[in-house]
Amino acid sequence: MTPDEILAQHGPREAMEYDVAIVGAGPAGLATAIRLKQLAAERSHEISVVVLEKGSEPGAHILSGAIMDPRAINELIPDWKEKGAPLNQAVTGDKFLFLTETGATATPHALLPDCFRNEGNYIISLGNVVRWLATQAEALGVEIFPGFPAAEVLYGEDGSVRGVATGTLGIGKSGEPTRAVYFLNAGVASVTAALFDGRLVEVATIGIEGMVGIEALFGDDSIAPGDSMIQVPEPDAEAEMMTAAAFRQAIASCGTFSAIVGRYAQGLMAQMIQSTACNALHSVHQRCARWLLTTHDRVQQRDFRLSHEFLAVMLGVQRPTVSVVASALQQQGLIRYRYGVVSVRSRRGLEEASCECYRLMRSRFSQLMQ
Ligand SMILES: Cc1cc2nc3c(=O)[nH]c(=O)nc-3n(C[C@H](O)[C@H](O)[C@H](O)COP(=O)(O)OP(=O)(O)OC[C@H]3O[C@@H](n4cnc5c(N)ncnc54)[C@H](O)[C@@H]3O)c2cc1C
Repeated sequence: MTPDEILAQHGPREAMEYDVAIVGAGPAGLATAIRLKQLAAERSHEISVVVLEKGSEPGAHILSGAIMDPRAINELIPDWKEKGAPLNQAVTGDKFLFLTETGATATPHALLPDCFRNEGNYIISLGNVVRWLATQAEALGVEIFPGFPAAEVLYGEDGSVRGVATGTLGIGKSGEPTRAVYFLNAGVASVTAALFDGRLVEVATIGIEGMVGIEALFGDDSIAPGDSMIQVPEPDAEAEMMTAAAFRQAIASCGTFSAIVGRYAQGLMAQMIQSTACNALHSVHQRCARWLLTTHDRVQQRDFRLSHEFLAVMLGVQRPTVSVVASALQQQGLIRYRYGVVSVRSRRGLEEASCECYRLMRSRFSQLMQ
């Protein structure tokens, strides 16, 4: 698809610019990323490199048990032993057998071609080697986005490859009619406000507790007040979709559904009001802790995927600020943040680091939904 075709199908998207985008955090993709960074460093050049991986983390989609010839890694990272590469078991013996119905016939070693010999090779878990390569790439400044399958190649007008598009994450566009509501089964969506200069700030998050497109409640001509997009994606997760008309009909015909939606709408409004105060008055450190707690509640699991870029959008700050705040939270032992995956280590610590807004939003919501 060309960029115009993608725009026509999905509407405007968020774009991220990198000098090099690599699809797939397998051995080849990560080695390429590492080598590019090494070459750039040798020439004192800055080069931005991103690796998109469809698996939940590097190595997740890699078949593991393998015999590895260390020649390539000797060239790429000569001090791999000191750096802790998981090549721990050298091959100690080699047999080439022809299996028969009743036994096996061994082939004399001297008759085997070189490619069948394993002296000097290692027995490895390729998944672990890939995870280790990912840490080496990140240490060189490569950005790795797991959970982001490249879905389309983007071409320039001259037919050259300009980049890739990942799966569509946008589900509602500010100012456009709301034609459907979505009930997420996993992940977290964000409602954001866009400024004329292109900056986005998050005003609310929505997870399995709610729905995207609540404004459909207000009638046939309801208009989305902000952009809604999936910010914390879950692989293979789906959402239930209802047309706006069917949604209003269900509200009109079912008192219980109508009451629940009404209470949820109040909860969402309370969240937006509190977010406004929080965004204006609280430090980015506090807001980041609040955001991580809220997301943790929504995804109901310790780990969730999140890029620095998206977190910056959600907090309305620059990406370097996110790196500083995330590493401070990491040093305090409250989270672990690797390969774009956040692991919450201490909820209590995050609650202490957060402002009162998290507790207020949470208690208001449980009060309404009781
Ligand atoms: C059964 C089997 C046994 C093997 N045994 C050995 C062995 O003993 N020794 C040996 O040296 N080699 C072995 N190999 C070969 C070795 O696994 C491959 O040569 C090596 O994994 C290739 O690396 P790669 O990075 O090119 O691709 P892959 O390892 O396939 O990595 C590709 C990565 O790209 C990701 N990806 C794919 N599409 C997308 C997309 N659209 N968007 C984002 N991410 C995407 C995948 O999730 C994956 O992580 C074996 C292979 C198989 C199948």
